[in-house]
Amino acid sequence: MTFRPTLERARAELQPLVVGRALHLFGGTDLLSAEGVEARPLAAVILRAAVLVKVVTEREAEVGADQQGALAHRGVSGAGGSDESVLGFSEPGRCTTCALAGFDAGRITCTVCGGSGTMEIFKHPTHTIGHHRREAATRETVACTACHGARTVVCPTCGGTRRTVRARLRRVAFEPRLRQHVYLPSLRLANDERLVARLADCTPPEVLRLAVGAGEDPPDDGSLDGFDFEDRLEIVQRQLEAMFADGEVVQHDCRVYGWPLLVLRAPGVHGAREAEGVVFVEPAGALAALVDE
Ligand SMILES: [Zn+2]
Ligand SMILES: [Zn+2]
Repeated sequence: MTFRPTLERARAELQPLVVGRALHLFGGTDLLSAEGVEARPLAAVILRAAVLVKVVTEREAEVGADQQGALAHRGVSGAGGSDESVLGFSEPGRCTTCALAGFDAGRITCTVCGGSGTMEIFKHPTHTIGHHRREAATRETVACTACHGARTVVCPTCGGTRRTVRARLRRVAFEPRLRQHVYLPSLRLANDERLVARLADCTPPEVLRLAVGAGEDPPDDGSLDGFDFEDRLEIVQRQLEAMFADGEVVQHDCRVYGWPLLVLRAPGVHGAREAEGVVFVEPAGALAALVDE
């Protein structure tokens, strides 16, 4: 079986393939028999790619000098369950967080009250059920719940010791990168959406698979010979390069398939726009067509 859509097979199985039936009183245009219809062999590209990349990032963090031993022992638990290991420490120095705060003993301005030591709370009005009596909300000033009126809090960076070290941290993350996409050749939008829907979820046959990189030689029955990919293979190539970048590829399974499409275009008559139809072989082997209504 072949996946090549041909005019001969389309005439035998699909004629008439009518476009513009709704717009024209005299029945529209049969793309398979009308005068001046252009048939272009174009190809869609289907990408199914999964890549697992090991990404290593390094950063510096300032920590209290008294935390150095504990940190070197256990590392740092980061967001998303990823752990950071410690590569080394700088010499101890003055904590940069509280150095400019102007307070003694390693304290900084309380960020909750902004240094006022107080905060306002709203006292809720009392409700008397049955009488619908309401009182206006009243405000009351109380001591800040974070600093308890002290206006400053212990510096979170140095823990009040005023001495810190800069830790060099390394994070190793395994990043899955997935991409499933149908790249269509230039077609009218209406055809695009329906065609993508037909091709997006199928399992493409191995004979339509294209070689990617080195070491692969998929079977080829000539189904795609003479079909024009326009620039879609270059776009897919760039997509794959981006998926393989910025890290060490640990595992990958990337499949690229071509899908031959016979695009029929009839010139617009009496001011009507150009009519278009796409003929292709479906995954199960039946010839199918979509027309621009
Ligand atoms: Zn406060
Ligand atoms: Zn500090």
